[in-house]
Amino acid sequence: MTTGIWVLGDQLWAGQAALLQRQKQQKNTPVILIEAADYARQRPYHYQKLVLVWSAMRHFAEELRGDGWQVEYAIAEDFLSPLQAWIKENEITKLLIMEPGDRPFADLIKNLDLDCQITFVPNNHFLWSRAEFQDWAKGRKRLVLEDFYREGRKRFDILMDGKKPVGDKWNFDKDNRRPPKKNLNPPKPQWFKPDAITTKVIERIKALDLKGYGQIEPFRWAVTQSQAKEVFQHFLAAGLEKFGTFQDAMVEGEDTLWHSLISPYLNIGLLQPLDLVQTVATAHTNDDIPLNNIEGFIRQILGWREYLYGIYHHVEADYPEKNYFDHQNPLPEFFWDSSKTDLNCLKQTLDQTERTGYAHHIQRLMVLSNFGLITGINPQELEAWFHAAYIDAHDWVMQTNVIGMGLFADGGVLATKPYAASANYINKMSNYCSGCRYNKGDRHGEKACPFNTFYWDFLDRHQEKLRSQGRMNLILKNLERMDATELSKIRQQATQWRERLRSGTS
Ligand code: FAD
Ligand code: SF4
Repeated sequence: MTTGIWVLGDQLWAGQAALLQRQKQQKNTPVILIEAADYARQRPYHYQKLVLVWSAMRHFAEELRGDGWQVEYAIAEDFLSPLQAWIKENEITKLLIMEPGDRPFADLIKNLDLDCQITFVPNNHFLWSRAEFQDWAKGRKRLVLEDFYREGRKRFDILMDGKKPVGDKWNFDKDNRRPPKKNLNPPKPQWFKPDAITTKVIERIKALDLKGYGQIEPFRWAVTQSQAKEVFQHFLAAGLEKFGTFQDAMVEGEDTLWHSLISPYLNIGLLQPLDLVQTVATAHTNDDIPLNNIEGFIRQILGWREYLYGIYHHVEADYPEKNYFDHQNPLPEFFWDSSKTDLNCLKQTLDQTERTGYAHHIQRLMVLSNFGLITGINPQELEAWFHAAYIDAHDWVMQTNVIGMGLFADGGVLATKPYAASANYINKMSNYCSGCRYNKGDRHGEKACPFNTFYWDFLDRHQEKLRSQGRMNLILKNLERMDATELSKIRQQATQWRERLRSGTS
């Protein structure tokens, strides 16, 4: 009886559960990694995401070989043929795979026609196992992030002073999320030049002639564990000190500000969440970094990231199909080509996404998905676009962030109210409006900012549903006070704008 391991493209860590289980028998355990071109054809991906994953896989295969594993690296059309050949050649009777993070990939594996037993090992790339999350969720009326986060702080003893939170508060948001000032001087991101392996991957992707998204070059992301650790060290030295303070700021020409840029690596296993939160927690005492920045960062990893992964595996399988507001408008063409929009906030965010595969949280939430929400774009179309556009996109993180957080299409499973906003918010948190042809103060009229028109139109169209959510009542009172003529102009203009978006002329 021979056991073999299939290492998936987002499980690139020597401590991952399947490899760990067979570490003592590594000489007798064949390992396979597969680059399947037809998987990259199923849907568009950012070209740089494909480069990242395939190059990181090739580097990881080399590392595993160096550690004494017998590794087969297949560059193939599909998953099935190399798997069948490898199973036959090595007389494998049991195929061990760490549970995929994404449900569709788990289904794909279960449906493969393989002549051996398939065994899934629980995924250890997250701090909370799926079973632990289910235990936490059992019997709760609402799965509130704040409750989950506090439980995580205690469970993993992060920023705790006995039973109390360090600094006597769980949350320092009051000191965070400052608007950008003039003459900010954010750190330069840590980038890398492609090595010979990455260059070969870029050549392969170009030759495959895929229908992808964005620019393939310059490709500057880390592709190994040691490079990813360098990115994190760079963040500790240069980014953490103002991470929380300017977490929500958006500045034209500054793609990354004080953000960590670690999600692409965390999501494929090159970095581990516990290492990160433990290291950052010590930076408070060791490096004198203000607590608001440290707590703000830990909340993202120990709170949001774990919570969204837990929710993804907790909800029913039809979650991706949810459409609470019954939004059916098609995705405007400019999402695929930033040169086709003149809304400056959208143009800037889309342009940097094309160049790098990256935009930070508030650009994704308060510019892109906010626009999708208030204009009424179909949630599934927008989710598919996000999946194509971002270097860190995976089903577990997309569904919850786009369907749940960004578009409220799940009717409030994870957000307590929709993240809908007018130009007021974008103008406060960015300098985009000063370079825009639209007027951030107007709700209707030729130069009115479409975010304003659509925001009030959204509140108007969905007031009944929004009222049932409780937390929107204050803002709905403003809608009630609005002059009837003004509301009618807004409705009219929103309809015209929707036509423009449909015909691709914005
Ligand atoms: P930082 O701002 O430095 O934050 C640190 C880390 O916290 C991130 O690396 C990430 O691991 C974690 N984190 C923070 N917020 C979230 C969150 N909401 N969900 C999960 N992890 C979080 N994140 C992805 O990893 N992949 C995605 O495809 C993705 N799509 C998103 C789509 C939308 C509509 C929204 C609103 C958010 C999305 N996010 C996604 C979450 C978040 O925007 C990114 O994790 C973050 O921007 C990555 O950049 P960073 O590493 O510089 O993050
Ligand atoms: Fe965006 Fe409106 Fe500001 Fe222009 S004015 S950048 S469209 S929010």
